[in-house]
Amino acid sequence: MNSHQLLKQQLTSLKLDAISENFLPKAEEYRKRDLDYIDYLSDLVSEQMRRRLERSINYRLRIARFPEKKTIEMFDFEFQKGLNKKEVLSLFNFEFIQQAENVIFLGPPGVGKTHLSISLGIKACELKIRTLFISAAELIEKMRLSQQNNTLTDVIDQLSRYQLLIIDELGYMPVTSGEANLLFQLISRKYERTSIAITTNTPFKEWGKIFNDDIVASAILDRLLHHSHVFPINGGSYRLKEKDIALNKTKE
Ligand code: ADP
Ligand code: MG
Repeated sequence: MNSHQLLKQQLTSLKLDAISENFLPKAEEYRKRDLDYIDYLSDLVSEQMRRRLERSINYRLRIARFPEKKTIEMFDFEFQKGLNKKEVLSLFNFEFIQQAENVIFLGPPGVGKTHLSISLGIKACELKIRTLFISAAELIEKMRLSQQNNTLTDVIDQLSRYQLLIIDELGYMPVTSGEANLLFQLISRKYERTSIAITTNTPFKEWGKIFNDDIVASAILDRLLHHSHVFPINGGSYRLKEKDIALNKTKE
């Protein structure tokens, strides 16, 4: 084995794959251009670090399970004029995560609630914040099954370790009072520890109806809203706007 092969092997066993791939061609380049040794090493290390960061972000994005890619740059604040752009953008400094505060996007269908919550989650992943996106229906089903299997405590533990748990579409489907109780257990566990972001179409005063239980609903709201950023969105549906444009086009 020559020294190049040995070095390649050593770098691979140290899991320095980018350096292992690049050290030979880069050495050639640096030799040709008569550049500094330190710059050579720093160049190789920078590329390795860049690759490692990219991998850890991709890993976080994968485990967060976003249904689609929506970024805040893609969000048209002009279309949703009633929404306080400055306040929304200030979420992206992620101080609310440090403070274990919650975020709620509230409004009718199509106004961008899910879009905003995904875009917040994507940026969180880029900052290595442990994030999970889950629909309310899936979350409740997961907890209900775990209760049957006697693993509810584990599941609540696991869910509360996410620094940002995004619960999408709370209130679209009615919830039994037993299920509301499960949700209450999760929210109490996360209260003042880790953040929750919720999208909902149901005004708070009607939560008693969706949970079939006024007492549990107010206990949930009490903890959820204590440290929270609430964004009511009352503008038009973006889906309908897109439809209007499509319809107008076919008319022409
Ligand atoms: P909601 O969750 O409030 O029902 P969504 O976030 O699913 O609405 O938005 C519906 C569709 O419209 C999505 O494709 C979303 O990306 C898009 N959308 C909504 N609002 C905006 C906006 N202001 N700018 C750009 N796209 C938007
Ligand atoms: Mg939605």
